[in-house]
Amino acid sequence: MGAALAAMLALLTEAQGSSAEPPAEPAMRSESIGAPMDGSLARGAVLPKRGAGFSVMRKTLARRARYGTEELVRLVEDAAAAVRRKDRGALLAVADLSQRRGGPFEHHGSHQSGRDLDLAFYMRDAEGKPAIPVDFVAFDHNGYSVDPPMAFRFDAARNWAIVAALLSSERAEVQWIFVAEHLKRILLEQADTSGANAALVAKARRALRQPGAKSHWDHFHVRVRCPAEGGPVCRDWGR
Ligand SMILES: [Zn+2]
Repeated sequence: MGAALAAMLALLTEAQGSSAEPPAEPAMRSESIGAPMDGSLARGAVLPKRGAGFSVMRKTLARRARYGTEELVRLVEDAAAAVRRKDRGALLAVADLSQRRGGPFEHHGSHQSGRDLDLAFYMRDAEGKPAIPVDFVAFDHNGYSVDPPMAFRFDAARNWAIVAALLSSERAEVQWIFVAEHLKRILLEQADTSGANAALVAKARRALRQPGAKSHWDHFHVRVRCPAEGGPVCRDWGR
């Protein structure tokens, strides 16, 4: 009887012990390994094909590139929903994140570690109606589409709104939003017009950045920092 009781007690304690213990969440979390240009992704979260205020572009579905860290996926869902709450017609076209396990991705130098994300610009047609891009559209200094010429306009209000939402979200810390210098200027003018607060504008001034000659005039590229509890395997690149 002594042994049976001891065994029962052991079982009980074990059961209590396991229920009292916090779920093994840290080990199960998504993990960004290495750097955006030389890294991989473990247990990546997947962005749904569509959600509140966003829809994933066809080319990205074909490339199976809807994976990122939990933080990145929640960030884009959050930001698109925030824009949509204030502006019912807004639909964000989301392009590539990373592939399921990250790593080299033929269409990109980075996008390897689950912390990069491309977004098409919000745009309007010649009549001023919102238009959903089927592919990326490049915009010139005046905010007109380059090809087809002048068929679309850069929607400064919505594009500023998504930048503001990304930079204001608690889900992840945005390191960069790569975009052409001439579009950055349009976005900051819009921030001014819309009376954005000075702290947010300063943040945007720093985060919005053209990384090379004449690049990113047809999409935003968002990069988030390693999560605070990301551990030593996640590496930020640049300041
Ligand atoms: Zn990109």
